[in-house]
Amino acid sequence: MKYNFKTVQDAYSETRKYCVDDAKAQFPPYVTFELVNKCNFKCVMCPVTYTEGSRKELDFELFKKAIDEISQYGSAIRFIGYDEPLLYPQIKEAIKYVKEKKLLLHITTNASLLNNNNLYKTFVEEGVDSVIISMQGLSKEEYCSMRQLSDKTYSEVISNIKKLYDYRVTNKPYIKITSTITQRDSHSDAKEFAKIHLDYVDEVQITGWTHFVAIKEQYGQENIMNEMQVKAPTFKAHTPCYVPNYEMIIKSDGNIMPCCNTTTSSLLIGKTGENSLMEAWDSKKALSIRKDTNSSDLSKHEDCNHCQIRYEEPEHGHNISGLFEGKVFKTFTKHNI
Ligand code: SF4
Repeated sequence: MKYNFKTVQDAYSETRKYCVDDAKAQFPPYVTFELVNKCNFKCVMCPVTYTEGSRKELDFELFKKAIDEISQYGSAIRFIGYDEPLLYPQIKEAIKYVKEKKLLLHITTNASLLNNNNLYKTFVEEGVDSVIISMQGLSKEEYCSMRQLSDKTYSEVISNIKKLYDYRVTNKPYIKITSTITQRDSHSDAKEFAKIHLDYVDEVQITGWTHFVAIKEQYGQENIMNEMQVKAPTFKAHTPCYVPNYEMIIKSDGNIMPCCNTTTSSLLIGKTGENSLMEAWDSKKALSIRKDTNSSDLSKHEDCNHCQIRYEEPEHGHNISGLFEGKVFKTFTKHNI
């Protein structure tokens, strides 16, 4: 079995085959690396802001070993997680290594470090396939408030994105800005948000609602929703989850998990250096996690227990609901704005 994806989007499309009970990919169509477990921002909605303890960087030899194994299967690679991947000391070498193996590469970043050591040039010159710049909120004010940043940092982020966009020779990497939203955002902000950013990206996407459940329940921030003036979402009794049927992430400490939404070791299925990725993927633990999540038994595992998937999105008010036809998801491009 070897995937032959033309775009990162093809790898995401492949996952639809496994969104049914008791299905699983022979090997994940994409594999995610959380290269470090740290970030240079302190966003109010992010677990990294509330965790202390040792900060780790994925051993580069283990990284290469994992990429060597993945290259047998042709999966796409993603650098994304509860981290800022551009903080990885070997980020340039890591990009180069993935592209030398002719694998598709996606990177999600806050863009604040894109100008460091000309990283935006490396993205273009090494052929990174897609980039998502994660924003938060639909206005500069909301971004700075939720991320606890100054206007100056916001301006630097925008300037860095423009540098990447202007340096491209072709449309590679495909550049997208995404944001989740809360009730604090409004209809008029959404159109304006897309219009402004489409000057220097290919796509702007509102990807859902901002999740505070884990921050409240796992990180002791009891009053976070009141403080942020956001409503609590509604709990759903039965929710199957098919993510472990197709997803795999390698954490900065080498732990292998079947889901990118993990901040504890409750879903640990293996360890790089000790297990091959295929061994972890087919391990007894991975099989039993799939059995639980496919059958809506989400309370067994700590990360699943607090997962956003168990909640209906909160009421966003008629302005936002009207714009997105009841769903907090919308894609804007230069052609549909
Ligand atoms: S329920 Fe949530 S944490 Fe558990 S496997 Fe699914 S997406 Fe991951």
